[in-house]
Amino acid sequence: MEDYKEIIKTKIIKINPAHIDWVPLREAGRAIREGKLVAFPTETVYGLGADALNKEAVLKIFQAKNRPFLDPLIVHINNLNEVNALVEDFPVAAQKLGKLFWPGPLTMVMKKNKIIPDIVTSGLDTVAMRIPDHKVALGLIKEAQRPIAAPSANIFSHTSPTKAEHVISDLQGRVDIILDSGKTMIGVESTVLDVTTFPFKILRLGGATLENLREVVPDIVIADNNIAIKRAPGMLMKHYSPKAKLILVEEKGEKMSEKIQELASLYRNEGFKVGIISCQENSEKYAEYLVKMLGEAEDLDSCARNLYSHLRTLDKEKCDIIISENFANKGLGRAIMDRLRRASR
Ligand code: AMP
Ligand code: MG
Repeated sequence: MEDYKEIIKTKIIKINPAHIDWVPLREAGRAIREGKLVAFPTETVYGLGADALNKEAVLKIFQAKNRPFLDPLIVHINNLNEVNALVEDFPVAAQKLGKLFWPGPLTMVMKKNKIIPDIVTSGLDTVAMRIPDHKVALGLIKEAQRPIAAPSANIFSHTSPTKAEHVISDLQGRVDIILDSGKTMIGVESTVLDVTTFPFKILRLGGATLENLREVVPDIVIADNNIAIKRAPGMLMKHYSPKAKLILVEEKGEKMSEKIQELASLYRNEGFKVGIISCQENSEKYAEYLVKMLGEAEDLDSCARNLYSHLRTLDKEKCDIIISENFANKGLGRAIMDRLRRASR
């Protein structure tokens, strides 16, 4: 896609979710109604929002992000009752998930109805819906009086923003308003669950864990890659990635640390600047390199929260190569590993 040429004066507004100042939030809501772009915090990552029912406004999201049109957006609402106005079918088991997981990091893909413009869904006959668990996001939707279409608020293929400064560095001059509410809680994107076929299939691992979803709907499966690509075409591309080349080391235990030390010294000797992503327990083993620790290995929630921010810091430090440890394949660890694998393609 051609690069975005229009330079917009971006207004950056700090909003404390614990004491919301409704005056700027009302202004941001009005901006959405007027067809403008507003970046806003959610509990997962920052989103770049526009009126989901206004196709010209939604087009601007794709332009501002350099996002390919084949990668559909998520429609954000603030009330479960709004789903029925936007979809053809809200299956009973999905309603149950909605009641238990919303507001929260679960996105459900359902058959769309005609009210949703095709540009939102990349021409698919399905739409992805979510109620975010963040007071500022919910307040923005309320003030906008519209469903808000929003992908993550980053230039396409970069890591998603978990702090307003990440949004500013990617999108200043390309969007009208950036709402700054500090660091996001979860740090990886929502889980995308296709509820149009049985069993329900996870198209993208994310903030709602497989384990927790299966407590409610036991037969949920993770879609194999071919199905995920067909149902969510944007998944095909390189995604979630830092500028540096990322190498994910898949060995376990001591072998993992040895392999990382071996690779790091090899690249350093060739003159590359090396950054390392590790858990807290192992970080001292790599002390001669630039190490970013995500958290204790068993504290996968903290590891997820810090992942993107540390990848961005290593880019800022001008690392050529980032070598990453692997994390446990459970809970939020699955989403961490999914993002590291995609980033290392
Ligand atoms: P982002 O919020 O930037 O991660 O982008 C939204 C993501 O939601 C897309 O990349 C898809 O993975 C997923 N998504 C959105 N709409 C649909 C849909 N109709 N069918 C399947 N996946 C979707
Ligand atoms: Mg994204």
